[in-house]
Amino acid sequence: MSEATQIVAIDGPAGAGKSTTAKEVAKRLNFAFLDTGAMYRAATWWAVDQGVDLDDGVALAAHTARMDLDIQESAQGQTVTVNGTDVSQEIRKPEITKLIYKLDQNSEIRQQLVALQRRFGEKQPTVAEGRDIGTVVFPKATCKIYLDASLDTRTERRARQMRAKGLEVDLEKLRAEVHERDEQSKNRVDSPLRQADDAVLLDTTDLTYEEGVNEAVRLARKVL
Ligand code: C5P
Repeated sequence: MSEATQIVAIDGPAGAGKSTTAKEVAKRLNFAFLDTGAMYRAATWWAVDQGVDLDDGVALAAHTARMDLDIQESAQGQTVTVNGTDVSQEIRKPEITKLIYKLDQNSEIRQQLVALQRRFGEKQPTVAEGRDIGTVVFPKATCKIYLDASLDTRTERRARQMRAKGLEVDLEKLRAEVHERDEQSKNRVDSPLRQADDAVLLDTTDLTYEEGVNEAVRLARKVL
């Protein structure tokens, strides 16, 4: 695998602020931004939309192989298109989030999406965020950051995002959901979420968003 371009890999659990941080880091470094979670979300949405049996791993992988996925980032936000349909809103819905584990444990599907991610990173300097970027997708990334925060802090941040969208929040239920996703990501057999040996831990529990971004940019600039 060639990794000619510079890659900043940002991994971490749900609600650690990976997307917002990675996006801002990419902007400040003038790198492209790759949201790999959006890819797993899009594949899940498409399987559900097309009525594929989510317990049939072979059918799921064959179906995902036919996915024509396009992700565009702009100042206005992210647009995710699957086979011509704009699914930017749909893929963020809780009913999709709950089902991603049916696909993200499927090795064949992971290989397909990892191939797309590598192709993207080989084309341009990239800040990529996800769960396995520094461990599997770009093991030779120039800079690896493991972004974390306490479960309470991550739950609070998610709650704030949801409230901002006008959604009602049951904090205890949300905390349990965030914890459950942590467990699913960390305990799956293929590409579990873990800090790469050569990744720097950035704990943002006591940091503001701005402080977290500044620190991530500082870490990246040190090695780029
Ligand atoms: O980051 P986001 O919450 O959008 O990711 C959605 C889900 O996609 C994660 O909970 C995880 O199950 C899966 N995922 C993954 N590997 C990645 C990125 C996301 O398995 N690199």
